Amino acid sequence: MVQITNHMPTAELQALDSAHHMHPFTHAEGLAAKGPRVITRASGVWLTDSEGNRIIDGMAGLWCVNIGYGREELAEVAARQIRELPYYNTFFQTTHVPVIALAAKLAELAPGDLNHVFFAGSGSEANDTNIRMVRTYWDVKGKPGKKIIISRKNAYHGSSVGSGSLGGMSGMHAQGGMPIPDIYHINQPNWWSEGGDMTPEEFGIARARELEEAILHFGEDRIAAFIAEPVQGAGGVIVAPDTYWPEIQRICDKYEILLIADEVICGFGRTGNWFGSQTLNIRPHIMTIAKGLSSGYQPIGGSIVCDEVASVIGSVEFNHGYTYSGHPVAAAVALENLRILEEENVIRHVREVASPYLRRKMEDLTDHPMVGEAKLVGLMGSLALTPDKDSRAKFASEPGTVGYICRERCFANNLVMRHVGDRMIISPPLVIKPEEIDIMFDRARKALDEGYAKVKAEGLWKAAS
Ligand SMILES: *Cc1c(COP(=O)(O)O)cnc(C)c1O
Repeated sequence: MVQITNHMPTAELQALDSAHHMHPFTHAEGLAAKGPRVITRASGVWLTDSEGNRIIDGMAGLWCVNIGYGREELAEVAARQIRELPYYNTFFQTTHVPVIALAAKLAELAPGDLNHVFFAGSGSEANDTNIRMVRTYWDVKGKPGKKIIISRKNAYHGSSVGSGSLGGMSGMHAQGGMPIPDIYHINQPNWWSEGGDMTPEEFGIARARELEEAILHFGEDRIAAFIAEPVQGAGGVIVAPDTYWPEIQRICDKYEILLIADEVICGFGRTGNWFGSQTLNIRPHIMTIAKGLSSGYQPIGGSIVCDEVASVIGSVEFNHGYTYSGHPVAAAVALENLRILEEENVIRHVREVASPYLRRKMEDLTDHPMVGEAKLVGLMGSLALTPDKDSRAKFASEPGTVGYICRERCFANNLVMRHVGDRMIISPPLVIKPEEIDIMFDRARKALDEGYAKVKAEGLWKAAS
């Protein structure tokens, strides 16, 4: 039997990893050549790797570790729940205490009449639930023609066949026969890259009106729902112009379609309120949740559903569910996570301390020769890299080439900061302190300086014509 301990040399761990472990969203041969970093422990906003490096986590894992790493309370709750009731299902006339408590707590936190929760094991599963739920809703209402779900290009809604189809990532659609039928994608409200000569305000309206055009094109009697992230996360932290969401809301109100807010990243404090829908004044019928729900300590997701949709779905047998829907250990851990977020005023810390401080640091960085705009909502932010700030030019190189160089320099400087194309992304744990933000930005500036030098040295400092 292979014994794995933290004392096994890194090279041996990497060799075993390459031999047997298939990584998500990864080119395996490329990774094997470089070798993955082996993360062994974490505390607060800090990761430690198998070589003893201390890395500051500017991404909160994958946008999820909202309360930071190493919270003893969650370990205690998980251990207690495993002893008491490690598993039971909620399918056949049964329920259990953790799932009841979590559903009730989510109904209390969620805005408006979003009072009902269908649990899943992840965000992808929850969005698969949503596809079936909104179509079933219209079937039961006697409008079976309403099947089409409108989404957006460059949206991310998960990686299963259903949720990956909802998403608008062309690289994903190219593999495995996606999208499934009756999903339609309109353009995203990404002014920096796609706004041309329009003002952000004009562009926001124009992109929102694409929803209305799609509804009129297919006919209202064929549209089931519109789904969107309040702020696009994996697409590059794209913050829509201020005019966008009010216009989207007007269109959703005018036509008879359901609005699904994918809150998987925006939820649980990331934008400075419990939900991104509150920050952006959106009134969804369904919210997708995952990630920050448990701060990533346990895999859990779900759909928070309004009274009307829940009551219509409740009038039939909904033939859908997962073995781990409302898993008791995950539910107990999520509940404890919500308790910490609430009792320690973490979301107020985001709004009043961390986000204003981070905004100043990001704006400071716009004096860097490569950094165009800095965008931030709560604690999700991005920096657009450009060879010409005035014209918002793209680089002549393949999109992502320059971003990747900068990401590598971050990595080398013990900072986790991602790139999406040629945008740098940041989404730290919500509990990050100003002095930790200082460290993060000292490293980020150094990484960008090194990236800039490398871009110049490799002849990549060129605008696309
Ligand atoms: C991560 C993400 C998902 C998918 O969640 P998984 O738990 O990875 O399945 C869905 N929607 C959004 C907005 C996400 O960021």
